[in-house]
Amino acid sequence: MESIESCLDFSGKVVLVTGSSQGIGAVIALEFAKRKAVTVLNFPTEKEQAAAEAVLSEVKTFSPSSISVQADVRSASSVESMIQTVVKQFGKLDILVNNAGITRDQLLIRMSDAEWQSVIDINLSGTFQCARFAIKEMMKKRFGRIINISSIIGMSGNAGQANYSASKAGIIGLTKTIAREYGSRNITANCIAPGYIQTNMTDQLSQELKEAFLEKVYIKRFGLPLDIAHAALFLASDLAGYITGQVMVVDGGLSL
Ligand code: NAP
Repeated sequence: MESIESCLDFSGKVVLVTGSSQGIGAVIALEFAKRKAVTVLNFPTEKEQAAAEAVLSEVKTFSPSSISVQADVRSASSVESMIQTVVKQFGKLDILVNNAGITRDQLLIRMSDAEWQSVIDINLSGTFQCARFAIKEMMKKRFGRIINISSIIGMSGNAGQANYSASKAGIIGLTKTIAREYGSRNITANCIAPGYIQTNMTDQLSQELKEAFLEKVYIKRFGLPLDIAHAALFLASDLAGYITGQVMVVDGGLSL
C-alpha cells in the first residue's frame, strides 16, 4: 500500500489548469507544481500574458519544465491546439482541471442574450471543449483525472445568476456523463463545488452581501483558493482513484 505522502507526489504527471493566470486556478497550478507535477498554465488572451508569466515563474521554481499556453476555452480549435502543444512537449496529459469561468450577473428578465451566452460559452462549453480533446489523449494512456470547477450555485440556484447557475449545473451533468463514458478507461471525472472563495470574482460583491454570506458560513471565514487546491490535489491523486462522478462541496458549510 502506497503512503499518503507518495500518493500526493505528482512526479511524472502532467496537469493542465485552465484560467490559471490568477485566482483559484493560479493556486491550484502552484500546488500541483509544489508536488512535482509538470504544470501547464492557461490564459485566454495576450492581455493576461504578463500575469500568467508571473505565476509561471513561481511554478517553475518547483517544477522547472512547466509552461503556459494561450487558449480561449470557448474555441474548439484553440483548445485542440493547446492540448496538442501539451502532448507534443510532454507526451501525454494526465490531469485536467477545468477552472476557467466568469460571471455576468443580472436578474433573469433583464439578462441580455450576450450576458447569458458568454457565461454558458466559457463556463460550460469551455469545459466540454477541454474535456473532449483531453479525454482523447487520456484514453491512449488509459489514465486520466478530470476535475471540473462547478459551484454550490449550480446546486442551489441564485437570484441574479441564472446564466452562472445553469452553466455550473450543466458542468455537474457533464461530469457525471464523462464518469459513465470513460470509467472503463481508468479516467475519473469529478466536480468541486466551491462556496464563497476570496478572489477577484468575489471581491466585486458589496460589503453587505459579503457579510450576509459570512453569517451563513459555519466555519467562520471565507474560503481561500488553497481550500479548493487541496480538494483538487486529493481528487487527482491515487487516494481518489475509486471516486468518480461526484461533487465535492468545499464551502465551510455555507450550503448546509
Ligand atoms: P477569477 O479570478 O476571475 O479567475 C477566472 C480565470 O478564468 C481567470 O484567469 C480568467 O482570465 C480565466 N478565463 C476567463 N475566460 C476565459 C477563457 N475564455 N479562456 C480561458 N480562461 C478564461 O475567478 P476565480 O474566483 O478564481 O474562479 C475560478 C473558478 O472557480 C471559476 O470557474 C469560478 O466560477 C469558480 N468558482 C469561484 C467561486 C468564488 O467564490 N471565487 C465560487 C464558486 C466557483 P482573465 O484573467 O481574463 O479574467
